[in-house]
Amino acid sequence: MRLDDRRESSNVEDRRGMRMGRAGGIGLGTIVLALVAVYFGADPSQVLQGLQGEGPAEQQQGPYQEGTHEAQARVLVSKVLADTEDTWGAIFASSGRTYEQPKLVLFTDAVQSACGSATTASGPFYCPSDHKVYIDLSFYDELQQRFGAPGDFAQAYVVAHEVGHHVQTLLGISERNMAARQQGSAAEANALSVRQELQADCFAGIWAHSANQSRPFLEAGDIEEGLNAASAIGDDRLTQGRVSPESFTHGTSAQRVRWFKRGLDSGSLDQCDTFGTRDL
Ligand SMILES: [Zn+2]
Repeated sequence: MRLDDRRESSNVEDRRGMRMGRAGGIGLGTIVLALVAVYFGADPSQVLQGLQGEGPAEQQQGPYQEGTHEAQARVLVSKVLADTEDTWGAIFASSGRTYEQPKLVLFTDAVQSACGSATTASGPFYCPSDHKVYIDLSFYDELQQRFGAPGDFAQAYVVAHEVGHHVQTLLGISERNMAARQQGSAAEANALSVRQELQADCFAGIWAHSANQSRPFLEAGDIEEGLNAASAIGDDRLTQGRVSPESFTHGTSAQRVRWFKRGLDSGSLDQCDTFGTRDL
């Protein structure tokens, strides 16, 4: 992936090195967060345990020192975010709408969001209440080591997926889906969650398609990296048969690959209608 000539986003909020105050109880915001959290690793119950309720504001513990490796990841995340701003800005403009750019919060260990507080163990997530994507860059080490999904394009895919949730929020899809999930059974709620996650994967594919079309940046092996990452974080792969498919919340490896590729090949929102299709 070649991003040398790309700009960095001005929407990165660096909260690394900040410490959280005392832990509170589990609040409503926590439940919302558990529903929207992309776990990429932990299951939702782990996410819940990793969360505390509303606590006091974070406190800065002096300047944060980043290593070379982490600095590279920060720049990559910032450039990919900028790229998604261009992509979605153009797509929204083409239908007469304005794209409201999300913020991306970098944190270490724990963070406070409008959806509740979260720890690194929650994995990267998007909070629809404050329109912010949250990521601890150490997740990328986990992506590489634990999930066997190395590479800069795999890292970019994670950001693009979370931004996909932001797009769903702007389009009203998340709100409609949340209401439907609250009415149905647990299995129905999970099935809807899968559709929402697969659509975010498809939206990530749209970003890769559009960004590469306007200014080619993909290199040999990049797509495979993205597909490998999508495959590595499928529910079936993560749970290794210990959990029934009704409990899946993100989709199987094959489904995640399929929908990412659909967005990537077509670059079209119409191709990402995971709610209107019978076969995922
Ligand atoms: Zn997600």
